[in-house]
Amino acid sequence: MNEQQHVGEIRDAVRAICASYGEDYWRELDKTGGYPTEFVKEITKSGFLGCLIPETYGGAGLGLEEACAVLEEISRSGGHPGAAHAQMYVMGSVLRHGTEAQKQHYLPAIASGELRLQSFGVTEPTTGTDTTSLKTSAKRVGDKYLINGQKVWISRVQHSDLMVLLARTKPIEERSSKTDGLSCFIVDLRDAEKRGLTIKPIDAMINHHACELFFDDFEVPAENLLGEEHKGFRVIMDGMNAERILIGAECIGDARYFIDKAVAYANERVVFGRPIGQNQGVSFPIATCYAQTEAAALMVDKAARLFDAGVPCGAEANMAKMLGADASWKAGDTCLQTHGGFGMSREYHIERKLRETRLYQIAPISTNLILSHISEHVLGMPRSF
Ligand SMILES: Cc1cc2nc3c(=O)[nH]c(=O)nc-3n(C[C@H](O)[C@H](O)[C@H](O)COP(=O)(O)OP(=O)(O)OC[C@H]3O[C@@H](n4cnc5c(N)ncnc54)[C@H](O)[C@@H]3O)c2cc1C
Repeated sequence: MNEQQHVGEIRDAVRAICASYGEDYWRELDKTGGYPTEFVKEITKSGFLGCLIPETYGGAGLGLEEACAVLEEISRSGGHPGAAHAQMYVMGSVLRHGTEAQKQHYLPAIASGELRLQSFGVTEPTTGTDTTSLKTSAKRVGDKYLINGQKVWISRVQHSDLMVLLARTKPIEERSSKTDGLSCFIVDLRDAEKRGLTIKPIDAMINHHACELFFDDFEVPAENLLGEEHKGFRVIMDGMNAERILIGAECIGDARYFIDKAVAYANERVVFGRPIGQNQGVSFPIATCYAQTEAAALMVDKAARLFDAGVPCGAEANMAKMLGADASWKAGDTCLQTHGGFGMSREYHIERKLRETRLYQIAPISTNLILSHISEHVLGMPRSF
């Protein structure tokens, strides 16, 4: 079997699972703020959510290219991979920086679905994108760390057993560089609310289960330090390229979903005695979206291949995320426009998918910050912050 056939088989298998979780399933969850527990169970049991976990730790041992195909197909089916995608890239931090004991302890349980590692705690209300200024502190006391501080927009905390948390272990005045003095921890979220963590769900535009977190002398065993103390930014950074490429793939799935829907409707809806798609004012915007999506998909593929080959791919990962997010946002807007007033009806699912894909202009990194990375690190223009 060649590589394309292999990825094709993965796509078919994911599509078959998604077929049992139609758009009405996702619309109902969106309406009620529910979590897709059954879907996440099935996609985990089938091995797709743990596809990046090596076989030695109970996973499928596949690469990012295959993982991208999984998320793209979930998006393309009308589903919302945001409910589960973090497990793919957060797990990478444990895999690359965890001790052998941590890997043995967590990875097989994550692969089997016994434990969910769906949460990633970085963003803070007062520092936002300026991650290296974050304030949540982790103070070593004997064989544990005491965590104090606040996080915001942390997704899926109430639906996850574990979270990778980034906190400050050295006062900001004592750091030797911007990234020095931050450390990562594997936090057990089970019963955490009885141990000094307050969780407040945020009423948001999309069903992403994002919460505010307040840590009050919250204890984490010292053995849960992930990677070296004070060098946690590196642990997080390593997972970020994977995250951006995977989100890019999700956006390609969204864009293809919107284009499929727009084309079907443009062919079927008759106004003035002819299908609306016969008007080039309707068909050309859809064709433009198609061309832009295919171009963005090439960048996602390129970035995933570089990542899988272990080649530095920061620029490509950022561009994959930005171009994917732009393609899906434009395709969503065009799809809604093609549907006229019906595009606004929840029954057509477009407005929900459009809200969901809008997130990717902002998170996990905003378009401005990607442009800033390209300006400085690729094109050599002056640093702006
Ligand atoms: C639904 C949702 C889920 C999320 N899930 C998680 C999660 O699970 N874990 C987590 O850690 N975080 C999560 N986030 C947070 C997300 O990563 C941040 O919202 C994002 O990184 C932007 O940070 P901010 O909101 O503080 O914006 P800010 O940093 O306040 O920025 C506001 C705006 O100003 C722009 N801006 C800021 N500085 C500059 C500059 N120097 N140059 C140009 N433009 C600039 C930004 O591009 C942005 O548009 C989530 C957010 C949302 C909305």
